[in-house]
Amino acid sequence: MSDASQRLALTDRVAVVTGGATGIGRATALLLAEQGAQVFVGDYDPVVSNADEFTHLGITELNCDVRRETDVKSLIEQAVRDGGGLDILVNNAGIAMVKPITDVTEAEWDACLDTNLKGAFLTTKHAIPHMRVRGGGSIVNMASNAGILPRAHDPVYSTSKGALVAFTKSIALSHSIDRIRVNAVCPGPVGDTRMMNADLDKAVDREATIKQFIAASPIARVAQRMISPREVAEAILYLVSDASAMVTGTCIAIDGGKSLGVPPSSD
Ligand code: NAD
Repeated sequence: MSDASQRLALTDRVAVVTGGATGIGRATALLLAEQGAQVFVGDYDPVVSNADEFTHLGITELNCDVRRETDVKSLIEQAVRDGGGLDILVNNAGIAMVKPITDVTEAEWDACLDTNLKGAFLTTKHAIPHMRVRGGGSIVNMASNAGILPRAHDPVYSTSKGALVAFTKSIALSHSIDRIRVNAVCPGPVGDTRMMNADLDKAVDREATIKQFIAASPIARVAQRMISPREVAEAILYLVSDASAMVTGTCIAIDGGKSLGVPPSSD
């Protein structure tokens, strides 16, 4: 094994991935397990068809609603009990919220903020003491390009992801002393996920909407495709591995340049 691949190996590491039943979380769980980690997936809507692939890679899928502290505590405790400790936490569970602020109900605000932000607080709170026992760890929070560059059409989602970026930096600073690294990834537009498919299902013209998503991201536009869940998982692998030993508090945009600014005209 080359030095570079050795630094990306996750042998003997124990990882928890939230929202790992579908999309980016599923791709991440698979990749971390392929790299040797013992992976525990927590999702409130498990997918039966994952069973064969997950079993083959030794991935355990547990029922967990990240908005509930009791669920989160038992997810982390089971990973520690069955895996022998905890080294990696990927806070991926998230929901979209596309609505003007004047139409958002209190319950919708709570659902979005509780899933996208409070969920990461709860897992982090319960994971850190176990990472300290191991002498360190790595946490990756799933933000979005909406967390770097807020958007008009989803103010509550943008707020949740912007706050998650702030949370990432604050926890990275406060737990550097424990050798716990905390980073975020800011993807978009990622195809082949439940969230993206739900958006496309609602669109009046599905093909035109896909083209719009692609056109907003300069590199996606020249490549004429959306970003794949696996491409985001590969950035997460870097952040949880020894290859990024000196990286903390960063937010890596995996958005084909979407959050850079106004793309060149397509004419
Ligand atoms: P997805 O819907 O396929 O995945 C989200 C997963 O989270 C699902 O399996 C869902 O069941 C789970 N989940 C939702 N609420 C939960 C809860 N309360 N408790 C436990 N599990 C819960 O969509 P995705 O696109 O793979 O989204 C994954 C993450 O990536 C989200 O945080 C999303 O905001 C973020 N993201 C996605 C895109 C994109 O373009 N698809 C872009 C930027 C960021």
